[in-house]
Amino acid sequence: MESDEKAALDAVEYPIVEDFYTIQGEGAHTGRPAYFIRTAGCDVNCWWCDVKDSWDEEKHPAMTTGDLIKRAVESKAEFAVITGGEPLLHNLEALTVRLKQEGLDVHIETSGSSPLSGQLDWVTLSPKRFKKPMDENFPYVDELKVVVLKNKDIEWAEENAKKCPPSTKLLLQPEWETPSSIKLIVDYVKENPQWGISLQTHKFIDVP
Ligand code: SF4
Repeated sequence: MESDEKAALDAVEYPIVEDFYTIQGEGAHTGRPAYFIRTAGCDVNCWWCDVKDSWDEEKHPAMTTGDLIKRAVESKAEFAVITGGEPLLHNLEALTVRLKQEGLDVHIETSGSSPLSGQLDWVTLSPKRFKKPMDENFPYVDELKVVVLKNKDIEWAEENAKKCPPSTKLLLQPEWETPSSIKLIVDYVKENPQWGISLQTHKFIDVP
């Protein structure tokens, strides 16, 4: 790539809540070191959201792709996780292209309620009823991870699973503050073994 083109990509800015090196705590890649990039801005408004501070992008500084890439590369992570907020409110082309050029795989965690953008190696769809995923995004879903509080959420999980490719990893995740969801999920997964359980293991080992 021409250095002018690279410089242009590195100059693209994103509103960022935080970026940090940690351990992926949830889903199919649990336990792997990862560089997390949390973009600001979300229009989904889940009432139980644990990152409400991320909703208003005006509250957070813009960071250049170049700065984000530098820190991700220095971290030694083999992959980056772009999360939010809702990361698909932003065009992720510059950030994802540059991460891949520097040798990092790119994962995204999204509600799927806006169009996919950028070069993505792993798409985790966490669909929210408050703003449903776009149908055009389903063919690209590698992992469907549904947060469960009650039975209605399992129905919602099945509704979304029907739209995913057969290879999609299907995971139900208990809502951290709702312990009753655990028995619900365990019973359901035993009866429906195409599903597995995702736990927020980072909360057990106290990493961000
Ligand atoms: S989509 Fe994610 S960031 Fe947005 S409100 Fe829901 S849980 Fe929070």
